[in-house]
Amino acid sequence: MLTRIANGRVIDPAHGRDAIGDVWIRDGRIADAPPNATRADETHDASGKIVMAGAIDIHSHIAGANTNTARLLLPEHHRASLPRPAATPLSTAGWSTFETGCRYAQMGFTTVVEPAVAPHHALHAHLELADTPIIDKAILAVLGNDDFLLDLMRTKGNSEAIRDTVAWTLETSRALGIKVINAGGAAAFKANVRAFSLDDEVPWYGVSSRAIVKALQHAVHDLGVPHPLHVHCTNLGLAGNADTALATIAAAEGLPLHLAHLQFYGYGKDGERGFSSAAPQLAEAVNGAKNITIDVGQVMFGQTVTISSDVLRQFNARDQARPRKWVIFDGDSNGGGIVPYNYRANDFYNALQWAIGLELFLLIDDPSRVFFTTDHPNGAPFTTYPEIFALLMSRDLRGEWISRLPPAAMAMTTLPSIAREYTLGEIATMTRAAPARLLGLNDRGHLGAGAGADVAVYHDDRDRAAMFRSAALVFKDGDLVVRDGEVTHYRFGRALNVRPGHDAAIGRRMTAYYDERYGLSDDFIKVPEFAIARPAPFGLVPCAR
Ligand SMILES: [Zn+2]
Repeated sequence: MLTRIANGRVIDPAHGRDAIGDVWIRDGRIADAPPNATRADETHDASGKIVMAGAIDIHSHIAGANTNTARLLLPEHHRASLPRPAATPLSTAGWSTFETGCRYAQMGFTTVVEPAVAPHHALHAHLELADTPIIDKAILAVLGNDDFLLDLMRTKGNSEAIRDTVAWTLETSRALGIKVINAGGAAAFKANVRAFSLDDEVPWYGVSSRAIVKALQHAVHDLGVPHPLHVHCTNLGLAGNADTALATIAAAEGLPLHLAHLQFYGYGKDGERGFSSAAPQLAEAVNGAKNITIDVGQVMFGQTVTISSDVLRQFNARDQARPRKWVIFDGDSNGGGIVPYNYRANDFYNALQWAIGLELFLLIDDPSRVFFTTDHPNGAPFTTYPEIFALLMSRDLRGEWISRLPPAAMAMTTLPSIAREYTLGEIATMTRAAPARLLGLNDRGHLGAGAGADVAVYHDDRDRAAMFRSAALVFKDGDLVVRDGEVTHYRFGRALNVRPGHDAAIGRRMTAYYDERYGLSDDFIKVPEFAIARPAPFGLVPCAR
């Protein structure tokens, strides 16, 4: 089967291509142009349109225990929950597995990473992801507050044992990488600690947060896992926490490290209210540290729900729950917290958070080291992405928003003075070429021959939000799945994972550990092959917009 996407403006920064031309697909893969006069089996006219690779989201909470707990806590947010008021929280997002796959595809996204899965919840997460249509997906496994690792560090276990633990976790949970969330903080929470910083020690274990981050960073690097350690720092959401992020960047000491949702660490303590933007200092540090990548976690106004395995932070934020209900749960390692939240445009703090996220996008020079996220749904649902693309691409549009926000908040940020506007090429770098490289997935994020034929075609609409909300055509592995913003065909993607080798002894040790500690076979933590893929669609009904 030979498909030709003809005469579009092809933007493929991985190959330095931005020109009118064709993209060819042969049997699910991007192909070189065939000899002249070769006729395609199928031709799609893309003249006047933009052609990019399928987009990749590196950090979006779309499956697993926390996400499901949020669904159970907030049934009024579900599409199926009728009767209900016309505009309920998250009613534009939908958040069943089915809607998640459809709505990502409609925007031209074809790969999404669920970034926070406790290893003992990995099977649940994979089963939900397997039920999420169209997109390929992956999980990051969470370590760094679990008793096994902390005990290993307390007893001065050698770095080889830590490496084996990381490799065993990646293999058993079928993960693409490792994340650490408030390293040591969730473990300290079990000892009634309510404030925990980078150099604090976890009670009982006597290891600092810094030591945990560094041990995991080195293990991931030494194992050759492409995605660097994905770090959710300590002190999320607190005024003055930019110092924590700066200290974490310095602690990386030149080795690759990814800082998640940096907006939530972009806070200074200046001004009457003791809350200001520290985005310029953070951006300067990121610009100067080529080993560091970040994603933003942009805030947009409206109702959402915060979902996090930073149980300490979520516990401290429980009084801010709107509506006034929340779930905090503990357990081995991180536990989790679900706190619904409403970001309001007329609120000083929320308006400043919105500005700080945009400052980070615009002040970090290299679009291949700043990644596009809202930390869905923590900063905003992923369905707000088109509006954020538009804000990045237009200073005038930002000015309109700024004019409606509290002047006192806008006085504490440099955003009003920033003239930069993202180009389509920079958007493509940030959402295609760079995330593929960051995750070690060289079969996507570009339109070179041999790549999987994940392709998004957009109308070149002056209204960039409209353009990115509703792709003209989307192909997944060469299969046409979206036309004019509507899903036309369902298929199921793959679960992407890595399997670095490890010493067999770690397996025996884990078996003994789970037996002694929980009276459980360690089989409960091992995700079987059949759980990470779903062979064929059945019984699907169309995904209404
Ligand atoms: Zn997150």
